[in-house]
Amino acid sequence: MPTTLFHTQLEMSTLVRTWQDSHETVALVPTMGALHRGHLALVEAARRVSDRVVVSIFVNPLQFGPSEDFARYPRDIEADLALLDQHGLTDVVYAPDTSEMYPEGHSKTQVIVSSMASVLCGQARPTHFAGVTTVVAKLLNVVRPNFAAFGQKDAQQLAIVRQMVRDLNFPVEILGVPTVREPSGLALSSRNRYLSPTEKGLASSIYAALLRAQEKYLAGQHDARQLEQLVRAKLGEVGLEPEYVSIVDRDSLQPIEGEIHRAATLAIACSVGRARLIDNILLTSGS
Ligand code: AMP
Repeated sequence: MPTTLFHTQLEMSTLVRTWQDSHETVALVPTMGALHRGHLALVEAARRVSDRVVVSIFVNPLQFGPSEDFARYPRDIEADLALLDQHGLTDVVYAPDTSEMYPEGHSKTQVIVSSMASVLCGQARPTHFAGVTTVVAKLLNVVRPNFAAFGQKDAQQLAIVRQMVRDLNFPVEILGVPTVREPSGLALSSRNRYLSPTEKGLASSIYAALLRAQEKYLAGQHDARQLEQLVRAKLGEVGLEPEYVSIVDRDSLQPIEGEIHRAATLAIACSVGRARLIDNILLTSGS
């Protein structure tokens, strides 16, 4: 069956109601399109637990700052549909227009997970996570899924969405999906399209530095500052200057200053050429 394409909330919610009437479960995979194997891994995780899978494709203006890449963000709904068709696991693509999502041009109501939205990427992108949580809340209300899948690649987004769902009692289970990488280790991202081949090579140093720190951690180096320094030095060797390198509590995202005693995320944001890239690795005794 080819993937069905819906543009309106009415079409989407009407079909979901028929699924729910026949006791089928629904999983949502929210995306901004320009789909790649990372997105497909989310679809696969969704399909493993759910009878029906909806992929939403919406480049959400609310989560881009004024000088960010909203206008040039890659958009290719035909290619996205072809990829999902070939993959064969998605029932519906929900691709609303901006006017469908924001009929008044904006959303007066915003969902903000306060302390978690201002750290890490929130420092350089102060309005970004309010945009994310607001649109995710809206999508959860339109699709009313039993499950929603998010990538570990965006660890801050995943932690924030989990917190929002707990705080606001959304009746949905959040699935966190491991990061899909190129053979070089570079995390797949729609923004990798901005990279030249040389820049791609450089960008793979980001994961190499994360892995090195994880190795040190597993070998007994538990001092957060030392590990951050190690990552900065590794990136410096190839001329990369990260926006941040930070070790934070995996769930609360609050910075860890000294010894790491609990599950932590080592997160990086780093621009390479025109692309602002993010990546992270878990530091836990089982990692
Ligand atoms: P985006 O389209 O970039 O907004 O991403 C949509 C979803 O795909 C988010 O939950 C991302 O975390 C996830 N995602 C993006 N890249 C990857 C990847 N390389 N591996 C796993 N999930 C990813």
